[in-house]
Amino acid sequence: MNKPHFSADEITELTVGLNQLARNLWWTWNQEAQEVFQQLSPRGWQNLYHNAVAVLHEVSNYELRVRLQDRDFARQARAVLDNFQTYLKEAKTWGRENAPHLLQNPVAYFSAEFGFHETLPISAGGLGILAGDHAKSASDLGLGFVGVTLFYREGYFQQTVNQDNWQSEYYTRLNPRNLPIEPVLDAKNEPLVCTVEIAMNEVYFQAWRVNVGRCPVYLLDTNRPENEQHYRDLTLRVYGGDSTTRIMQEVLLGVGGVRLLRALGVQPSVFHMNEGHAAFLTLELVREKLAEGKSFRDALARTKAECIFTTHTPVEAGHDRFSRDLVNYALNRFQSQLKLSLNDLMALGRVHPEDANEPFCMTVLALRVSRAANGVSELHGQVSRQMWHCLYPDKSPDEVPIGHITNGVHLLGWMKGPVRRFWRRKLGPTWESSVNSADFWQRLTDPEFIADEEIWALRYNLRRELIEFTRRRLLIQGLRLSQDDFIAFDQLLNPDALTIGFARRFATYKRAPLIFQQFENVLKLVRDKQRPIQFVFAGKAHPRDDEGKRFIQHIIHLSKYSELKGYLVFIENYDVHVGRQMVSGCDVWLNNPRRPLEASGTSGMKANCHGCLNFSILDGWWREGYDGTNGFAIGDDSHPDSIEEQDRRDSENLYQTLTEEIIPCFFDRDADGIPRQWIQKIRRAMATLVPQFNTWRMVQEYTRRCYLFK
Ligand SMILES: *Cc1c(COP(=O)(O)O)cnc(C)c1O
Repeated sequence: MNKPHFSADEITELTVGLNQLARNLWWTWNQEAQEVFQQLSPRGWQNLYHNAVAVLHEVSNYELRVRLQDRDFARQARAVLDNFQTYLKEAKTWGRENAPHLLQNPVAYFSAEFGFHETLPISAGGLGILAGDHAKSASDLGLGFVGVTLFYREGYFQQTVNQDNWQSEYYTRLNPRNLPIEPVLDAKNEPLVCTVEIAMNEVYFQAWRVNVGRCPVYLLDTNRPENEQHYRDLTLRVYGGDSTTRIMQEVLLGVGGVRLLRALGVQPSVFHMNEGHAAFLTLELVREKLAEGKSFRDALARTKAECIFTTHTPVEAGHDRFSRDLVNYALNRFQSQLKLSLNDLMALGRVHPEDANEPFCMTVLALRVSRAANGVSELHGQVSRQMWHCLYPDKSPDEVPIGHITNGVHLLGWMKGPVRRFWRRKLGPTWESSVNSADFWQRLTDPEFIADEEIWALRYNLRRELIEFTRRRLLIQGLRLSQDDFIAFDQLLNPDALTIGFARRFATYKRAPLIFQQFENVLKLVRDKQRPIQFVFAGKAHPRDDEGKRFIQHIIHLSKYSELKGYLVFIENYDVHVGRQMVSGCDVWLNNPRRPLEASGTSGMKANCHGCLNFSILDGWWREGYDGTNGFAIGDDSHPDSIEEQDRRDSENLYQTLTEEIIPCFFDRDADGIPRQWIQKIRRAMATLVPQFNTWRMVQEYTRRCYLFK
C-alpha cells in the first residue's frame, strides 16, 4: 500500500529514535546513518563538524517532524534505525559465544584518552585513537566491556600557525549539550557524584556516558560546585598543566574510575590499564581488599590477578615518573587508607625499591601489579623486555613476562564513503558484516571480480577528494594569514600527481623533515613534469616541544618560500577528520621514525583499505606487515646504534626507494593508461594487511590471551 506519509505516532517514534541514535557513536561507523543527519542540514553538518547531536539542535523539532513527512526520507531514517536496533539487540555475537562471563563481569578498560570522532576531541593522538577503536570493536564483537577516562572540557589543543610559522595553541570549551554524551544519574535522577582523596582534599566528581554501540565509556568530570576552583579545572585539558596536575588527573582516573564502577554496580572481572597513566587503579583495588580485612600481601596478590597492562612506547619520556615529594603530596590522604608508609608506597613504583633517589614510575607500578603485560608489536615486545629487564633480574631478557599484541584499527570507522560505496555496489547491502574476514579481502586478488580499471578509478576519486579538501582548508588558513603572495588555492595540488602523505604527532623521533634532508634531490623530482609528485603534511607538536615546533616551522617555510612551493602543503590542526582524508587520498603513506621508537603506529593501517600504499621504516607494525610485495620499505630489518648514522642512512634509503621503485612503478602506464604493477601492489596490500591489522583481530587476541587467561 502506498501511504502518502507516516502517521503522527510513527513520526514521533522516528524523532525519538533519531535522538537516541545521535547519542550513540554507532552512527560514526555507519554511512547511511551519517547521511540521514547530513541531509537534515548539509551546511550544518559541515560547519558543525559532522556532529549529529548539534545538527538535531540546529533543526527545530517542528522542522524535523515536517521533514519526516517526506516519505523517502522517513523510510531512509526508518531503515537506519532498524539496523541500529538490530545491532543493539543482536544475540549471537562472538563475545557471547567465546567470553559469556564477561557479559556479567566485563573488562574495565582504563585510558587517559579515547579518540572516537572529531566531535569529541578528548584525545592527543595514537594512544587515544587505539582506545577508541578498541571500544568500537569490543562493541562489534559483543564483548562485555566498559571504558573509563576523563571528561576534558577543553579537550586537546587546536593548532594554528602564526606569521612566523610557529605553532600556537588555543582551546575551545566543549558544550556537553552538543556532544554525544549523557550525564550519569542516580536513582533520584540527579547526577551521580562520587569522591576521591587528592592531596589533603576530598574531591567530588560526576560522570558522563558515551554510548559506543553496545559498550559504555565513562568520562569522569571534577567540574562540581562542591570543589575548589583548581579541582574543578583538574579535568580541563588532555595532559594539561604540570606534573602536579598530571599525577592528580591520574589519581582521579585510577582511583576515581574504580569507585565510579562500584557505584554503578559494575564488577569487572579484569582491569585493563592502557598505558601507565591508569596504574593507580591497582592501589584502589588493594585498598578495597584491605578494607575487607585482607593482609596487604594477600590484597596485592589478588589485585595482581585482576589486572593486565599494555605498554605503548620505548621512549623514556613517555613513562610518567613522579618525585617522592609529589607522591607524598598528591596521595597524602589516600595513602593513609592503604596503611603503607611512604617508603613502602614508593617501593611499588621503583625498579630498585631501596633507592631513595629513584622517582615513582607508573609503568613499574603497572608491571608489578598485573598478571599479564604486553607491548604493541613484535619488535616493541622485544624492546620492552630489554627495557624492563631490570625489574626481573633473575630472568634472562627473553624470559621477561612482557609479550606483544600488535595494534589494529577499526575498519568501518576509518573507511571513507567512496570505498564503502564501492563495496556496496560489488557485494550488496550486507557487505559490512564480512568486512573483517580474510576471505573478503582475498577477493582483491581476483581480477575477474575487480578490474584494475575499477581500482584505479577509486584511487582517482579518493585523491580528488583529498585535493579538494586540502584546497578548502588552505583557503581558510590563507585567509587568516593574509599573505601578499596568495597561492591560487583552487589550482593548488595536482590531481594527477603521485601524492605522498605524512601526518602524525611531531615528536622528534618521528623525523618529519627527514625527506627534505635530500633537498636538492627532491627538487629534481618535483621538477619532472612527466612524473609529477607532491607532498601533503599535517601534525601537531606537543605545546612544550619546541624542537617539534621547529620541524613544523621548517616544513611550512619550505611550503611557502622554497622552490617546493606548490608541491608541498601543510594542513593545520591534524585530527581524526584530517587524518581520514589523508590516509585515503594519498597514494603513499610515509613513515620514517627512528627505529625502534615507533612502538606500533596505526595511521598506516588506516591507509591499507583505501589502496594507499605504505612507505615506511621497518619499525612497529610495518616490520610485521611488509612482505616485499604489499608496499615499500625504507632500509632493512636493522638499525645502527649511532643516531647520526641512522638518520643519514635512512634518508639515503628513503630517497633511493622513492626514485628507483615508487616513482617508476606509479608512472609505468600501459596502453590503456593503467599502472598495472602499482595496482597489483594495492591488491596485495588489501589482501594481506587489512585482515590482520584491525581491532577486530586485536580485541579477539586480547580476549583469548589476556581477558580470559588467568
Ligand atoms: C591514527 C591517528 C594517530 C596515530 O597514528 P600514528 O601512525 O601512530 O602516528 C594519531 N592521530 C590521529 C588524529 C590519528 O587519526
